[in-house]
Amino acid sequence: MRLKTKLIHAGLEGDPQTGAVVFPIHQVSTYKQEGIGKHKGFEYSRTGNPTRHALETYIAELEGGSRGLAFASGMAALSTILSLFNKGDHLVVGDDVYGGTYRVISRVFTRLGLEVTFVDTSELAAVKQAMQANTRAIVLETPTNPLLKVSDIAAVAEIAKERGALLIVDNTFMTPYWQNPLALGADIVYHSATKYLGGHSDVVAGLVVTKDPQLGEELHFLQNAIGAILGPQDSWLLLRGMKTLGIRMEEHEANARQLAQWLAARSDIKRVNYPGLPNHPGHELAKRQARGFGGMISFDVGSGERAEQVLGKVKYFTLAESLGAVESLISVPARMTHASIPQERREALGITDGLIRISVGIEDVQDLIEDLQQALA
Ligand SMILES: *Cc1c(COP(=O)(O)O)cnc(C)c1O
Repeated sequence: MRLKTKLIHAGLEGDPQTGAVVFPIHQVSTYKQEGIGKHKGFEYSRTGNPTRHALETYIAELEGGSRGLAFASGMAALSTILSLFNKGDHLVVGDDVYGGTYRVISRVFTRLGLEVTFVDTSELAAVKQAMQANTRAIVLETPTNPLLKVSDIAAVAEIAKERGALLIVDNTFMTPYWQNPLALGADIVYHSATKYLGGHSDVVAGLVVTKDPQLGEELHFLQNAIGAILGPQDSWLLLRGMKTLGIRMEEHEANARQLAQWLAARSDIKRVNYPGLPNHPGHELAKRQARGFGGMISFDVGSGERAEQVLGKVKYFTLAESLGAVESLISVPARMTHASIPQERREALGITDGLIRISVGIEDVQDLIEDLQQALA
C-alpha cells in the first residue's frame, strides 16, 4: 500500500456493526463484563477505549511500528516516555528542542533525579562526547524548532545502539508522511499531534509509537498508570484530520519552498532557515533521510523592533503559537514559544530577537508572498 492510500485505509476502518464508513466515537468510561475478567478487550477507558485504540492502531501503522499510544498532549506523551527512566539515569537531549521539552526535562525530570546533557544533535562528535556510562537515551528533534537544524537519525541511532541507549525522536515537524524515524533506527517516535497530524488548530494531542512490542507494553503500562490519555472525541478528531495529511503536507511544502526562495532572494533578510534550500547545511542529509522538507521556515529580519513591525502588519499570517495547521501562522520564538529558555541560552543558540518563524499554511502562495512583501516594506 502506498502512503496516500495508507492514510485513507490503514488502521481500523468504519464500524462493522452498522456499516458506518467512519469509526465511531465511543464516549464511554466502562464496559460490561460477562464474568469477572471476561470482556471484549476493554475494561475501563483509561486503560483502553475503542476510538483511542483505532487512532493508536492507525499511527502505529503509519510510523511502521508495533504499538501506538495516544496522549492528552505532546508534553503528556513525552512525560510518559521520560517516566521509563530512573533516578540517576542520564539523557542526551538536543539543544534546540521545543521550549516545553526543554522546560519539562530541565525543571521537572531533573528534580526527580534524571541527569541531562543538552547538545547539538546535528554534530555527531558532540553526541558521542556527551554519552556517559549511565546514558539511557538520546532525545532529538529533526528538523529543529525554530532553527531547522537537521540531525542524522541513522547515525545517532548507531551511537545509541553501541551504548545500549534508546533513540527517541520527536517527529512533529516532518510527520510520518515525510519521515519515518523507526525505519532509520529510532526506538520511539513521538508527535505533538496538535500540529500537522490534527492540522486544523482544533485539538491538543500527543502520539507515541514504539518499534519493539515489549517497549510498547512498558509504555502502555505507564500510559495506564499515569493516565494522561487522549479522550474519545479528540481521538476521533485526529482520525478525521489525519486522513488529509498527505494532500496537506504536499501543499504546505510547495508553498514553503516558494516562500523560502522568495525570502532568500531579498537583501533585507539576514538569514533564511529552510532545509529545502540547497545552501541549507542540512539539505543533503534531509534529502537522504526524509521524503520532503516540510512547511516550517524561520528568517532573521535583523532586530526585535522590525520583527514586531512585521507581525503587526501581516494580514493572512495569524500571530499565534503552534504550527502545522491549514492557516499560516507567524511568531517570534524568542518572545513566544521559546520564552521559557533563558535569554543567554537563547542567544547562544541563535534564537535572536529578530528571528521570525512561519508555519506556512495551504492558502494561495501568491497571497502569502504579497502579504509578507507589504509587511516587510
Ligand atoms: C508543540 C510541540 C510539542 C509539544 O506538544 P503539545 O501538544 O503542545 O503538548 C513538542 N514538540 C514539538 C516539536 C512541538 O512543536
